[in-house]
Amino acid sequence: MASIFSKIVDGSIPCYKVYEDDDCLAFLDINPNSFGHTLCILKREVDYLFDLNDVEYNKLMNFSKKVANGLEKSVTCKRVALSVVGLEVPHVHVHLIPLNSMSDMDFSKNIQLEKKDFENLALKINSNIK
Ligand code: AMP
Repeated sequence: MASIFSKIVDGSIPCYKVYEDDDCLAFLDINPNSFGHTLCILKREVDYLFDLNDVEYNKLMNFSKKVANGLEKSVTCKRVALSVVGLEVPHVHVHLIPLNSMSDMDFSKNIQLEKKDFENLALKINSNIK
């Protein structure tokens, strides 16, 4: 069965899209740890990061770096952290989490945003990606 992120890639489930290229897609995490929490995925469905071939691994990491640079310009944070977990969704994804304190890395804590906040944030990050 297709992962929920493959359904986002094929458009059957909506997302707050931040940026994409031919191979990768960035969208806002629906349950953000902090304001700006973004997920970067490889469009091809692979469960585990370290099963990626070197070409795809590098594509995802370079893509994540590009998005992180735009994200850092878009929100107030000390730095953007990167984490790969994958316990919930078996489709490799990089968490980009704007950090103001270590508690922002706590996945059991979330902030609530309105639809309009997600939409505006996604547009703002996109406009800062070069
Ligand atoms: P994990 O697989 O443990 O790395 O966590 C999966 C992440 O995906 C969590 O932070 C969820 O909030 C996020 N997530 C799950 N479904 C969606 C969705 N439809 N759109 C955006 N983010 C999602």
